[in-house]
Amino acid sequence: MSMLNALVPSGVITGDDVLTLFEDARSKGYAIPAVNCTSSSTCNAVMEAARKAKSPIIIQVSNGGGAFMCGKGIKDPNSAAAGSVALAMHVRSVAKFYGIPVILHSDHCAKNLLPWFDGMLAADEDFYNKYGEPLFGSHMLDLSEEPDDENISICVEYFKRMAPMKIWLEMEIGITGGEEDGVNNEHVDPEKLYTSPEQVWAVYEALSKVGDMFSVAAAFGNVHGVYKPGNVKLSPERLGKHQEYAKKMLNVSIPKPIFLVMHGGSGSTDEEIMTAVKNGVVKMNIDTDTQWAYWDGLRQFEKSNRDFLQGQIGNPNGADKPNKKYYDPRVWIRKAEEAMIARVMVSCDKLGCTGHYEPTVDEPAYSQLGTPKKMPSPVLLMAAGALVGSAATMMFKVVGK
Ligand SMILES: [Zn+2]
Repeated sequence: MSMLNALVPSGVITGDDVLTLFEDARSKGYAIPAVNCTSSSTCNAVMEAARKAKSPIIIQVSNGGGAFMCGKGIKDPNSAAAGSVALAMHVRSVAKFYGIPVILHSDHCAKNLLPWFDGMLAADEDFYNKYGEPLFGSHMLDLSEEPDDENISICVEYFKRMAPMKIWLEMEIGITGGEEDGVNNEHVDPEKLYTSPEQVWAVYEALSKVGDMFSVAAAFGNVHGVYKPGNVKLSPERLGKHQEYAKKMLNVSIPKPIFLVMHGGSGSTDEEIMTAVKNGVVKMNIDTDTQWAYWDGLRQFEKSNRDFLQGQIGNPNGADKPNKKYYDPRVWIRKAEEAMIARVMVSCDKLGCTGHYEPTVDEPAYSQLGTPKKMPSPVLLMAAGALVGSAATMMFKVVGK
């Protein structure tokens, strides 16, 4: 496999690098997981997963996620933008330590949330003026609840503002069912859950006049969240029809002219995912499954250490034994992170993007709290012993000087 390293740098990428990455994904037939993050902890877990999977990754923040990042105690209309910017700044500060390419993206923005979008764009413009690139690499506008004409014209207006900074635009046409982040589409007309090739083409025609850095989240029966099977039928083969139609209209030979995005894929089969990717899906959103994983990591930790988590002092080993090593947030949050890391890696595998990027930093042998991930080999232990030994010698030398 030819590695992506020659094409895009590690760290937060924007502009041409984002386009190059999506073109690579489209031509080689893989998609990049876009994981919703709400904290520095979840951002770090996602980047660590990408490093372990040797994969590029997308970190995305929703309006509610941004507000959470700002703080649940803040009731200010600008808190979602401020928190989204804070999350992006955190990733900007630490991404280089993970050694893989990261796209910063914002999730669904409906019409009533446009002030949030404006706030992030203002931060992008500010960042651009200082550093020559936007803060985020990509944003999503979701005006799919509005009539198509209005949806497309608002997207065009925003895209014109984003294009000079080379910010990617993801837009939605057709509706993703289910419930996510306070948007409830559980009772929408089922026909609206499937976008037609003509609708997708109308988007392509309008946006391509402004630039080529955009993708379409076309609905093919997708539902946010996990529901019992049988509620809706996922039809990823419909995405191939969008490509065929656009190809015919454009009279071009490239097989997949449109960059597509998959939402509401929790609970879908591997085969459905692969069909979607084969038909030009370059980004798949992951939220519900990683939410569960994060919780499940904590749940299992609490279950196996319950007797050590009932008070600051006193456990089965003695009434005077301290429990700080169990309730320190770095211990139990780390367990949540580890479970989330494993789940993100599963998504990298399912989407075929594992192994495309050689991390520019080495995988550490030990986790940050110093507990070995696996039992290290005797050779490693000897090497560690030698290192400790030489460090002790050095210290002795410094002290003795
Ligand atoms: Zn979505």
